[in-house]
Amino acid sequence: MAPSVAIIGAGFGGLCMAIRLRRAGVGSFTVFEKAGDLGGTWRDNSYPGAGCDIPSHLYSYSFEKYASWTRRYPAQPEILGYLEHCADKYDVRRKIRFGAEVRRAVFDGRRWQVTSVHDGAERTEAFDVVVMSVGQLNRPHLPEIPGMSDFEGVSFHSARWDHGHDLTGRRVAVIGSGSSAAQLIPPVAERAAHLDVFQRTPNWVIPKPDATFGPLARLAFHYVPGLQRAYREWIYRYAEATLYPALAEGWSAALLRKRALAHLNAQVPDPALRARLTPGYPPGCKRVVIDSAFYPALTRPDVDVVTDPIVRIRPKGVETTEGLREADTIVYATGFRSTEFLAPIEVTGLGGRSLAAEWSGGAYAYLGISVPDFPNMFLLYGPNTNLGHNSIVHMIECQVNHVMACLPRVAAEGPIEVRPEAMAAWNRQLDAAMARMVWGEGCRSWYKTAEGRVTNNWPGRTTLYRRLTARSPRGAYRTVAASPSSA
Ligand code: NAP
Repeated sequence: MAPSVAIIGAGFGGLCMAIRLRRAGVGSFTVFEKAGDLGGTWRDNSYPGAGCDIPSHLYSYSFEKYASWTRRYPAQPEILGYLEHCADKYDVRRKIRFGAEVRRAVFDGRRWQVTSVHDGAERTEAFDVVVMSVGQLNRPHLPEIPGMSDFEGVSFHSARWDHGHDLTGRRVAVIGSGSSAAQLIPPVAERAAHLDVFQRTPNWVIPKPDATFGPLARLAFHYVPGLQRAYREWIYRYAEATLYPALAEGWSAALLRKRALAHLNAQVPDPALRARLTPGYPPGCKRVVIDSAFYPALTRPDVDVVTDPIVRIRPKGVETTEGLREADTIVYATGFRSTEFLAPIEVTGLGGRSLAAEWSGGAYAYLGISVPDFPNMFLLYGPNTNLGHNSIVHMIECQVNHVMACLPRVAAEGPIEVRPEAMAAWNRQLDAAMARMVWGEGCRSWYKTAEGRVTNNWPGRTTLYRRLTARSPRGAYRTVAASPSSA
């Protein structure tokens, strides 16, 4: 009999898992989604200008090509529309329990006891397998700046946009200057009377060569056999061949720097502003911003880039070391609690082990998917599977392939866990590969813990990850009955 599967989260990962199970004829699964709709990060991040800087035809499932993309780089509503299309086409929407927030998952020696809260009522159900697909960027990070609660105006995080608050004619403060800020600043600047951008650290920025796909191009993608596949493959290989070496400090690192500096020089004529926007760390150490509208917005006369450190929030604005900058609206584009994987879900494995305690020095997982002592629990977009150069959807599909390859053994032999020696070997390989990557050098980023351990990114090529996840999982796992730790 097919194992029963609890999928936690209905974003790109959870939907992919649900669809693959459905296509394999497995109906014994439930998707828990704490929100009222599907889409994960693409439901949450609805700020003006939200979109993806990975091309549409690559930022989609390989099994569900889509000829309807209207732009080379998709805007958030189109991505959400794509996910809804997939959920409906593969008939998984009715398997999603909306408004059900998973609080705890406890392995009882044989099955997972999953506790969720729905309409205020707590309920515990048993599943053979748990697939955690809550993403890395699902919990907003709000800074701890003194006086935040004293602010008399309206404030919100970029991922919790207040669409009822009209910005027309406002004095707006945006705190942060990462990818989210870069996308929302141009449309906000259009509406606001004045905008102050509080930049703590400048980012490397390269152009986004966006373009529309007109009706003819869309028809061609729909009708010309192999065109979409070939286009997708070309974008994938291009990113792999040019961007990956830049992050591994290879041949294209200098080119990336040159391209970013040329973009800065072309778009920001004022040398003083240019100097403040020039990073002092290598490109790629923090996620490179890919945007063509960001710098022009910063050069507007009604926009100031403020680099003086913030001291506190006052009732009427943001106080820096140089004085008060008045604001009636504050947008915190301050990122996510990205290294706290799975939090706040309490996960308890064999022998009562707490996953949070196991991960107190930084999250880890074999292939980013499995953790010893947590049998039959699989992670999608888990530790060390984020990319700075290619599509996460590709990584998610690799992970789902691996989970699908594990399920027949679970069905035949009962719970399986990854062997500690496979985990240790994985960590050693990861550390060795990490040493040549650019992420460690002289920058703070959401890729790493406060102690500096890179827990989020995959340090290899995605082609290698695909190969590793496509291997038979047999040797890396053992049944829990054979495990001394299950005693
Ligand atoms: P982020 O890259 O983590 O940026 C957070 C920003 O807030 C940084 O500029 C940071 O400054 C600043 N900040 C944080 N705490 C602060 C404080 N106490 N005082 C002042 N400034 C503070 O977050 P994000 O922009 O939301 O982007 C997160 C990731 O989401 C991106 O890197 C990307 O992977 C993904 N994303 C992707 C797209 C896309 O097009 N594919 C679009 C948006 C987001 P420091 O740099 O000094 O820490």
